[in-house]
Amino acid sequence: STFEDCNLPSQMMINLAESGYKQPRPVQMQMMPIALRGSDILVSAETGSGKTAGFLVPTLMHVYGLSQSPAGAMQGPFAIILTPTRELAIQIEDTIKMVVAGLPNMRTALLTGGQAMSSQVYRLKQNIQVVVATPGRLVDIFSRHPEIEFSNVFCLVLDEVDMMFSLGFSKQVKRILDVLPEPPNGRQTIMCSATISKQIQQLIDQYLQKPFRMRV
Ligand code: AMP
Repeated sequence: STFEDCNLPSQMMINLAESGYKQPRPVQMQMMPIALRGSDILVSAETGSGKTAGFLVPTLMHVYGLSQSPAGAMQGPFAIILTPTRELAIQIEDTIKMVVAGLPNMRTALLTGGQAMSSQVYRLKQNIQVVVATPGRLVDIFSRHPEIEFSNVFCLVLDEVDMMFSLGFSKQVKRILDVLPEPPNGRQTIMCSATISKQIQQLIDQYLQKPFRMRV
């Protein structure tokens, strides 16, 4: 499927084209239609394959639909992208900003270590639709700020799970999956991992529902 086939908002099409995304990469052709129908996905793809836009484009399209609901009807964040390092989180947030440039009510918050938690929490309370986070900081915010609502998170992306595990974040990743409330219509989980260890397979078995498995 092409970007046209996804019925993206025209501004998103323009943004992608202006950033040189004319044709989807193979991983994106595989991921986009499956992700758009809300299924869980497990992708084994290397960095450089284009998996980032593969999960971001459908997720942002979904979030955009929700953010258009009548004012105040639904409170974000609607999606959380979990990634191993602050550097990766910054790159992902930059790609999100590129895709949603010019679209109303598409605000991001970056929740990572190495920055004051207080300013991140302040930002989180300002009508945010998409969160990009590292596991340790997100768990800290869950435990220290129970007043922050995460009950409308319709999509959770776990990017580079193998790196999160090798950096020692497996406990935090499981904690996030355990405490994140499931919205009434269910939640979509998209997991990316270049390699699938025994530990990661257990995570998949426990938390993903009939995932579509893709290898690129
Ligand atoms: P990723 O594997 O997601 O980190 O993407 C690798 C690089 O490919 C990034 O620099 C993207 O900007 C670029 N890229 C991803 N998808 C496309 C596309 N469909 N057309 C052109 N460039 C792309």
